[in-house]
Amino acid sequence: MSVHEATSAQPILYEEDGHVARIWMNRPDQANSQNNDLLDQLDAAMKRAATDDNIHVVILAGKGKHFSAGHDHKELAQGYHDFTTEQRYRYEEVRYYGYAMAIRDFPKPVIAQVQGGAIAGGFMLAGVCDLIVASEDAYFADPVAHFGAPGIEVQVHPWVLGVQLAKDLLFTGRRLSAAEGLQCGFVSRVFPRAELEKSAMELAQRIAQAPPFSLKLTKRTINRAQDIMGFRTASDATFDTHHLAHAVDWGHAQGGDAIKAMKAKVG
Ligand code: ZN
Repeated sequence: MSVHEATSAQPILYEEDGHVARIWMNRPDQANSQNNDLLDQLDAAMKRAATDDNIHVVILAGKGKHFSAGHDHKELAQGYHDFTTEQRYRYEEVRYYGYAMAIRDFPKPVIAQVQGGAIAGGFMLAGVCDLIVASEDAYFADPVAHFGAPGIEVQVHPWVLGVQLAKDLLFTGRRLSAAEGLQCGFVSRVFPRAELEKSAMELAQRIAQAPPFSLKLTKRTINRAQDIMGFRTASDATFDTHHLAHAVDWGHAQGGDAIKAMKAKVG
């Protein structure tokens, strides 16, 4: 295994093991909350894996106790909370919607390796991956409806959970456990925490044995079927609706306090 750029100060680490790249979010002290640097470097790392012919499968993981606590509203673009509607739309169109949809459309299988919390923007990153493997302590939540918006920017929820369960999670803001995720098919495999890293790699290595062009076409056919069912149109529409909510009160007094409370709960 070769490890590149492995210093703790860097928000993204990139490892290679044979035909598998494992990309780590590396802000464990901030529960891998996503700031500008992390998002930009994550996108760059994904592009690197996309263009490297030696890489057939990618694992997206988070260092520390949690997969990701979502967007870091303290450390987003300077002045984020005072952005105009147009500036915020542009920002999220690139860094939230754009980067996440690029993972969904990534030309190789992407596996989310999830432990601890995958909250809001963390839920979104896991949800756009092709498969989720989780530790027994993992949980998923999108409490954003309780802060004024109809869920996080890419609304994969009805597609990956089913309509009723998506409403349950969004209406209540509650956590979906790894066991419940496994039961409904949202999570593909659950492992003890100590085995997660190794087991995710074993799954990735097994998938990586298939011809890469076949994997690319397989993912494409399934994603295209989902697009024909309306995924892309619904996602684009939901992003606009999400920004209607931002234009009303998000990111100002109520949003800021609510986000702080949410981060405190993640622990
Ligand atoms: Zn937003």
